[in-house]
Amino acid sequence: MSGTLYIVATPIGNLSDMSERAIETLRSVDLIAAEDTRNTSILLKRFDIRTPMSANHKFNERETLSRFTGELLAGKNIAVVSDAGTPCINDPGYVLTKECAELGINVVGIPGPCAAATVVSVSGLPSDSFCFMGFFPRGKKEREDVISYIKGNRSELYVFYESPNRIEDALSFIEKGLPEAKITLCNDLTKLHERIYRGSVGEVLSELSANPNAGKGEYAFALYYESKAEAESKTEALSLEAMLTDLTVKRGCTLKEAVNILANEPIEEFGGKVPAPKKEIYQASLRLKDMFS
Ligand code: SAM
Repeated sequence: MSGTLYIVATPIGNLSDMSERAIETLRSVDLIAAEDTRNTSILLKRFDIRTPMSANHKFNERETLSRFTGELLAGKNIAVVSDAGTPCINDPGYVLTKECAELGINVVGIPGPCAAATVVSVSGLPSDSFCFMGFFPRGKKEREDVISYIKGNRSELYVFYESPNRIEDALSFIEKGLPEAKITLCNDLTKLHERIYRGSVGEVLSELSANPNAGKGEYAFALYYESKAEAESKTEALSLEAMLTDLTVKRGCTLKEAVNILANEPIEEFGGKVPAPKKEIYQASLRLKDMFS
């Protein structure tokens, strides 16, 4: 009987986020494969975990592979941890997990903190689906590719990691390519000085520039980009009757006044333009009257 590989999430700043199951698992396994044994020893000390550790990072992941799978096949249990958060999410662990899956070794996840998931959860942006992009690229060409990919895609929420010394530069680049995108930028999540910035990329950037401590801590952000084609088709799908009803309710005006507003005022939420000639809008108002008479 082979052993089990546990993928154990650890705190991203606040040690109180360590789960009971994570502690029990790290205590009970035969070996902890840690991204950096010095970092993990602080965690182990805090929770009085005395399990032996072995290094498993991106520079030795392939060399340690046969040793770890050998031990697992011999019936030993191993837990993978990274410096913070969930292993394999932009952290070591994938190489070993893939091999175990292929060899039929049991792989069990011990879920917990993850910066990407936390950013999505606090973003206040549409989050039914999201695309995790890892670190925002450094090179100009790769950055341009990311911007064109986002522009060409459907409306979507994207999550990026970024280092504190590049965050302003990254946001300036994004502002040029996607000025209308909305973002939620998170600094030092779960820590004492956690801070969240929200708004357009430009607004967040000016708030960030005004903060003398902006260059400190860890950053991750969620960016929502609404595809132009989708926004337009949504507006087209809205009937003149629906626009008139919306105006009478929201502005508390009569139907006659709503006809005049719609025929003369480009309204942002209706696509920022007059949707039809006044005659058509007037006819829509008559249909609306008929519906309620
Ligand atoms: N596996 C980790 C996870 O589950 O979140 C991510 C590892 S990745 C190498 C580290 C990056 O995650 C940091 O550079 C930062 O961008 C982001 N990050 C980690 N902890 C964070 C925190 N407390 N607040 C904001 N971002 C954080």
